[in-house]
Amino acid sequence: MLNVEQIRQDFPILDQEVQGEPLIYFDNAATTQKPNQVVQQLVDYYQKDNANIHRGVHTLAQRATEQYEASRQILADFIGVQSNEIIFTSGTTAGINFLARSLVQPRLQPGDQIMVTRLEHHSNLVPWQELARRSQAELVFAPMTATYQVDLAALQVMDTNKLKVIAIQHVSNVLGIQQPLEAIVAWAHQHDILVLVDGAQAIAHQTLSVKELDVDAYCFSGHKMYGPTGIGVCYLAERWHEDAQPFNFGGEMIHQVFDTYSNYKEAPWKFEGGTPPIAQAIALAESVKYLQNHGLMVIRQHEEALTRVLIQGLQQVEGVTLMAEGPLDQMGHGIVSYNIDGVHPHDAATAYDLEGIAIRAGHHCAQPLMRLLQVPATLRASLAMYNTMAEVESFIETTRKVKEYFQYGA
Ligand code: PMP
Repeated sequence: MLNVEQIRQDFPILDQEVQGEPLIYFDNAATTQKPNQVVQQLVDYYQKDNANIHRGVHTLAQRATEQYEASRQILADFIGVQSNEIIFTSGTTAGINFLARSLVQPRLQPGDQIMVTRLEHHSNLVPWQELARRSQAELVFAPMTATYQVDLAALQVMDTNKLKVIAIQHVSNVLGIQQPLEAIVAWAHQHDILVLVDGAQAIAHQTLSVKELDVDAYCFSGHKMYGPTGIGVCYLAERWHEDAQPFNFGGEMIHQVFDTYSNYKEAPWKFEGGTPPIAQAIALAESVKYLQNHGLMVIRQHEEALTRVLIQGLQQVEGVTLMAEGPLDQMGHGIVSYNIDGVHPHDAATAYDLEGIAIRAGHHCAQPLMRLLQVPATLRASLAMYNTMAEVESFIETTRKVKEYFQYGA
């Protein structure tokens, strides 16, 4: 069992009052808090080892380089891939833009198709809209089942000559639903279709072997897995390292530079032009160690138990409508979206804040999904490893209060 009380000691930010009430932080899908170990790693790096990497022969430069490359190995082991398949980026958005421009654009012919779903975060939609426009390709939407998963049977009728890439989320940041990636990959790879995955909402909530999933690329952000902002990872399978063109040209990524042309380093370095976020990459390894020390299976069990009570509790509040109520194995990532009848989500979120509870209200960067759900916005509660059952219960109680407050006025 997860020792949540001990874990909370590592997150002093949680131990504060907001609006005179103990803080309940349920906005973890937006960003997680950072444990002392990660913050301390940033401080240690800047106080003891700070130097630019790869170029210097002096001791500090070597230490910084070693730590940066060691971090790459730790991230690779974490998701079960080779270290040269880990490209450091500034986050999921940067990783997806890199894939669109470096890997996919050179492969597209006018009339080719790119497939996404209507559940995508704008970060995994807008780059593909833009690429489709530039390449005269067509953006198509995957057929979905009533439970918001890709309809595998309906995929069979797609024109597999035209369809070149499927860009899809692993887990929805609005509904918490997981997509059946194994089956999608099995179908897509039979037809030489690339599968590129936005793993932003999966990475901190389940055990994962990206190698076993056999996707072509998988992107995630450090700040949603208890790590710093400004750092992310794009896994790119080695089989695509030759085809993919560098995207950022300049220092760090070159091998030799002549007057009118240059040649480039091998992957992953040819994809990391300029000084990378060194401190953040090193501290991200610390957040991986933190997750591993507690164990993702155990974290998952804890979060699933909380999610179950959260969903059941909300279902019992009259006037609350959940946006999706799938089986927990498809939505045990601690993300629950809902609305309270007759209350605008922004008003409700403000009322929660007055009770010390941080949740999200809005379209969650998923406007096409809002249209599908036929709502302008939703409330979203999202959990992390440091949340407690008492917090969930208090949250349900507050939901009742919020509902009554708006029903009868103050
Ligand atoms: N995809 C999903 C599913 C997300 O939830 C987010 C962050 N809300 C992103 C992509 C974008 O991540 P970032 O802003 O860290 O690049």
